[in-house]
Amino acid sequence: MSTTLSQRPQLKHLTAILDNLKQRGTHFKLRILEDEQGPVCTYDGKKVINLASNNYLGLCNHPLLREAALEATKTYGVGSGAVRTIAGTMKIHMDLEEKIARFKNVEACVVFQSGFTANAGTVSSILGKEDFIISDELNHASIIDGARLSRAKIKVFRHKDVAHAEEQLKEVANEPGRKLIITDGVFSMDGDIGPVDKLCDLADKYGAIMMVDDAHASGVLGRNGRGSIDHFGCHGRVDIQVGTLSKAIGALGGYVCGSRDLIDYLYHRARPFLFSTSHPPSVAATCIAAFDLLENEPERIDRLWSNTRYFKEQLGRIGFDIGGVTTPASETPITPIIIGDGKKTMDFSKALFDAGVMATGIAFPTVPEGKARIRTIMTSEHTKDQLDQALDTLEKTAKKLGILS
Ligand SMILES: *Cc1c(COP(=O)(O)O)cnc(C)c1O
Repeated sequence: MSTTLSQRPQLKHLTAILDNLKQRGTHFKLRILEDEQGPVCTYDGKKVINLASNNYLGLCNHPLLREAALEATKTYGVGSGAVRTIAGTMKIHMDLEEKIARFKNVEACVVFQSGFTANAGTVSSILGKEDFIISDELNHASIIDGARLSRAKIKVFRHKDVAHAEEQLKEVANEPGRKLIITDGVFSMDGDIGPVDKLCDLADKYGAIMMVDDAHASGVLGRNGRGSIDHFGCHGRVDIQVGTLSKAIGALGGYVCGSRDLIDYLYHRARPFLFSTSHPPSVAATCIAAFDLLENEPERIDRLWSNTRYFKEQLGRIGFDIGGVTTPASETPITPIIIGDGKKTMDFSKALFDAGVMATGIAFPTVPEGKARIRTIMTSEHTKDQLDQALDTLEKTAKKLGILS
């Protein structure tokens, strides 16, 4: 059967595009994880030190979270059976939303199937074609897709450039449409922190809606991992806070926090909420247990940050460009090692893997041309020995490839 499909001419244009990627050296194969997500694990049959996951706090395989998932499965089954608005709102979904709202110190919360759908579903449903979106140039793809779906006019400001954001706002200040300012709390490719406080000032000054995507800040920044709004002390000034349950929280999902009416509106209008089935009870139970852990075991976050400080210091000592000159300097557990050339970066990533370190190469179009990098992400679970071994491998491999002299 598969042979007949690949003989049909209908999708030949896709094969041509793939051939082109292969020629340019940017075609990839998925690496297959054969055991569980951890600081050391097995991809494609090879044991590696893992510097690539978003499992910041090791919660993907925490015993209490596993137990919560198993218990919920035993009690409530494996699926919710419907979208939330038809018959698929289980009590455990409501418990999770209340838990997050309390944690974030807001009136209400709605959980989506992913951070992606939270962003895309929210931006697209709250704005229309007469409105304006003022967006950082490095904002996440899900924000960009939501902005496009909304049909609002999109005005992009230079990365973290608040003065440029204000220029963009001024240009449309007299237009009747609503204005939305939107930034990532932590930028996923550079690890720098968005100027949330200053953008809040702008939002207040111009009466704009303020929205922050805290996917990489949840569980990482702020008291007990409450995120960038807590980090900057901007409680009550951000109309829409998005977070993910898929990174530090260790499971899957996204959420939006805000006023009771915002959440009620999203219940009625956000298309992924209305047209896609809700989480299995195991996922909701896992996330509830994860927020308990954030509240009860903040030392995980301390370990994450002490590993981060050590790793950054050592990368700098070895002589890697970890940003600050050619790109913004990272301020979080995401530390890019800037290489520049796309192919050289991919070769470095491959050689690192062969030498026992998993660190993803990221090139154009995910990052600008000439800014290709290896992205490293710390977790609370890496031991000092593992970090030292990874650093040694990074140094030796970089010297072998002429990246360091
Ligand atoms: C990962 C990410 C998302 C998407 O979250 P998922 O839960 O994985 O869908 C959204 N925004 C940013 C900034 C992210 O890094």
